Amino acid sequence: MGGLKSYLYLLLLLALFSCNKEITQQNDESNDVSFTELGSDAPYLYGETYYGRKSYVTYYPGNIPLILSIPHGGDISPPEIGNRSYGVTVTDSNTIELGIAIRNYFYSNYNIRPYVIINNLKRTKLDANREIIEAAQGNVFAERAFDEFHFYINSAREEILSKYSTGFLFDIHGHGANPDGFYDIRTWIGYLLSGDQLDNSNSYIDQNISIDNTSIFNIANSSTETLSEILRGPNSLGSFFENNLYTALPSPNSPSPEGMKYFSGGYNTFLYGKDRNFNFNAIQLEFPFPDLRDTQQSRNTFASAFVNLIQKYIQIHTGIDIFQTD
Ligand SMILES: [Zn+2]
Repeated sequence: MGGLKSYLYLLLLLALFSCNKEITQQNDESNDVSFTELGSDAPYLYGETYYGRKSYVTYYPGNIPLILSIPHGGDISPPEIGNRSYGVTVTDSNTIELGIAIRNYFYSNYNIRPYVIINNLKRTKLDANREIIEAAQGNVFAERAFDEFHFYINSAREEILSKYSTGFLFDIHGHGANPDGFYDIRTWIGYLLSGDQLDNSNSYIDQNISIDNTSIFNIANSSTETLSEILRGPNSLGSFFENNLYTALPSPNSPSPEGMKYFSGGYNTFLYGKDRNFNFNAIQLEFPFPDLRDTQQSRNTFASAFVNLIQKYIQIHTGIDIFQTD
């Protein structure tokens, strides 16, 4: 190699080296990204809206002992978060719109609001109903959104328990067609009891399944009703759905899935329904699409039924009248 050539070669090597160095530094920076402290956007005031980092999570503080969490309705796909490489990635379409319709109905008719926490990220980026490993799959920005989602829920629960003896989290989902193509138009109500457990007789359930295994220990423990009554008796949530012409499972008419597809409740229902450190209940609601969340009209009609049936359900099981709170 001649003098000039080797000089150019050296320059080339130096250029490559500095490029590599730059890339390495960029990687270091993204691994070392820092966020503001969780809760730095507090206090959370009723009537205000909080958005979290880059609006991946929305928090609407409320004033009744009811939290609606919506983990699977988001549609934001930011490039800073790669696609999740395993797990379910299907969006529960229109569930954010459904939650907002319920929130609006509460406010315009009763001047009250539930606490609502929404994951706006598409499920391909974050599954906000799994533990953090599967939920965010190592992406720091998805992990941050996950942390905010739960921080807001925890904050809502803390505020509720500072004012009320107990409260409820409803984790809102939507189910699609069953694998065999059958479209189940019942709302699947999940208390963490499997379809196989529900497929037993009332006496079997009452004798063999502990209320400890459910996500509604708190109301079951203070109730005079048996567990089977709470799950599918006249005062069960499914019964209140059916009184309002929305079929549900479990309920008096559909006591158990009888081997059909059914979701009994996921991570959020477990996290907020089984922690005995808090007097709290969690229930997963898997809504059908047709005539419930498909159109604005369907959602508004359902919202009016839901607000009224949930008031009755909470009053019967806790003595709290959410229409009369202050
Ligand atoms: Zn879902």
